[in-house]
Amino acid sequence: MRITLNILADAPPEPSALQPLQVRGACPHDCPDTCSLLTTVENGVATRVQGNPGHPQTGGVLCNKVSRYTERTYHAERLLQPLKRVGPKGSGQFEPVSWNAALSDIATRLKAIAARNPEAIVPYSYAGTMGQVQGESMAGRFFNRLGASLLDRTICATAGAEGLTQTLGGKVGMRVEFFAESRLILIWGSNSIGSNLHFWRYAQQAKKNGARLVCIDPRKSETAEKCHEHIALLPGTDAALALSVMHELITHDWLDHDYIARHTLGWTALRERALQWSPERAAAVCGVPVEQIRSLARDYGQCFIDRQPAAIRLNYGMQRVRGGGNAVRAVACLPALIGAWRHRAGGVLLSTSSLFPIDKAALQRPALLAGRTPRTINMSTIGDDLLRETSAQFGPRIEALIVYNSNPVAVAPESGKVVRGFARDDLFTVVLEHFQTDTADQADYILPATTQLEHWDVHSAYGHTDALLNRPAIAPLGQAKPNTQIFRELAAHMGFTEPCFADDDETLCRAVYGDKVDFQLLLDQGFATLPLPDAPFAEGGFPTPSGQCEFFSDRLAAQGLDGLPDHLPNYEVPGSSREFPLAMISPPARNFLNSSFVNVKSLRDMEGEPVLEIHAEDAAARGITSGSIVRVFNLRGEYRVKAKVSTRARPGVVNGMGIWWRKLGLDGTNVNQLTSQHLTDLGRGPVFYDCLVQVQAD
Ligand code: SF4
Repeated sequence: MRITLNILADAPPEPSALQPLQVRGACPHDCPDTCSLLTTVENGVATRVQGNPGHPQTGGVLCNKVSRYTERTYHAERLLQPLKRVGPKGSGQFEPVSWNAALSDIATRLKAIAARNPEAIVPYSYAGTMGQVQGESMAGRFFNRLGASLLDRTICATAGAEGLTQTLGGKVGMRVEFFAESRLILIWGSNSIGSNLHFWRYAQQAKKNGARLVCIDPRKSETAEKCHEHIALLPGTDAALALSVMHELITHDWLDHDYIARHTLGWTALRERALQWSPERAAAVCGVPVEQIRSLARDYGQCFIDRQPAAIRLNYGMQRVRGGGNAVRAVACLPALIGAWRHRAGGVLLSTSSLFPIDKAALQRPALLAGRTPRTINMSTIGDDLLRETSAQFGPRIEALIVYNSNPVAVAPESGKVVRGFARDDLFTVVLEHFQTDTADQADYILPATTQLEHWDVHSAYGHTDALLNRPAIAPLGQAKPNTQIFRELAAHMGFTEPCFADDDETLCRAVYGDKVDFQLLLDQGFATLPLPDAPFAEGGFPTPSGQCEFFSDRLAAQGLDGLPDHLPNYEVPGSSREFPLAMISPPARNFLNSSFVNVKSLRDMEGEPVLEIHAEDAAARGITSGSIVRVFNLRGEYRVKAKVSTRARPGVVNGMGIWWRKLGLDGTNVNQLTSQHLTDLGRGPVFYDCLVQVQAD
């Protein structure tokens, strides 16, 4: 059959439509690439999801996960009607109920709690969708009007974000497309092939043009094995490595003195700090050969000598340790030392998200708080917080939790405590979801939410600089509703009459950027590139208070913190414990994205089952062979998993690949049974990769 393509569809196609359509959308997942999608719709059914070839950042290519999006959307286990718990908490036993009955009962329960203290109600959400509209727009209005507790959304990126902000002034950096012209690329704390595929395409272009690629990561990832060099440092030692590179730049005078003098703050103090970090000292801390550190510094310094661009693609893996914020600060100082910012293909990129002019107040309406200042709950300590009693310090015991765009029972640290908290009989839990996840199993009500193919949204990105629009390609499946509509209707059941609760999704989409981004352009081509200079800091102009790259941060010093970046040892230092001699990190399995896609059969078949990668030396010392079941444990708990003896793990470090749903793992647990609720130095983030364990043959 000849397929006629109509690129611009204004609304979900009618089920009776005869002509296939292609509808432009945006990938909603927590990935820096924010791809532009083209969904083919035939007779009202989405038959294919592809990358938009007209969007330069996507280049017509999607990752393995989202190219199977129709399998996820039409999954036999999609939640298609509201469900009410009928069995014991956590049993996963539910019965269908009407929307009206569900929302009426939820509103009644929330009103009763709010009458005592609305702060006993806690929203819990993260990046299940990165959309600005189906994320925190109507939901934010609802919780602000209610006066519920605020949520500190720290689970992924706040340590790095704070480190970057204290150094460069915000989540700002190089434009990703210019990595293709770099001479040296350091891929630091990132498995780009698995989680930043479109950056990897630019890195490949640079490699073809003669660039050198160095990967810095405790795990020998798919990316590490394709780079010219892999520096397999111990988890939590990145700041020591960066300071030692500075040491070498200083002692060899590979420094752009003009750039440092004109565009940085705190050079003398940083110089003194860095000179304390000889390669020998750093090598001992990082667990890597001293020559590898010297060679890294030489490569970086050579770019200054040759006036060639050196670029760093930093990612969030390295900031999931106690000193994560300081580590990002240390790395973010490097480009200024050699004047890398002078080139459009030089500098550092961790996140571009501060570059997007999002009008959060228009979306979330903080004025609905009406002067109230609710307490803030940190999502990374939800395990402890669900188990706390009312106190003057904590405030009221948490009585209700509304979870959307998140699966905390699987992804929050120290999940033994998280499960105990969710299992409280006196906790009222509502979960908006696509599937019956580990968290949905614990709910009192599960409300079926639409997927990205079924609703409107507007997106920013954190790995490029294009805004995107997502149009619905198909009508909502079953009785599923967009998050916005669920909160709109819940607001009505609560008796909230403010006109903002009547805003439809198109109004919300237009409010995201106001007049800062051309909405017509988003409608016409699906994306709009932000107007930004090629080399944003070639002449300084950092968005810090001083306008300089702040090696020394007065703002941190004013808080009683170290004004300079330094290496802060992990809470659980690798090699420091005889009882728990192995460090464990828990990076995402290549075919999953956090805990999303774990239930998509074709992707799960590729992953097989939960595995722990372990180096041959550590395996042999324990009588462990590939394929055997091992017990991984520490004082917080244990999980059993299949061992994979692999060169992907370095000696002394095991890789517990995540993030499997607990109910799909052996004994109904996953790797987060072992991670801790300690917080990072900056940004109050979790320390997933700061974790000592022991491993035994089962
Ligand atoms: S997960 Fe990332 S690479 Fe995959 S489609 Fe979405 S944005 Fe693109």
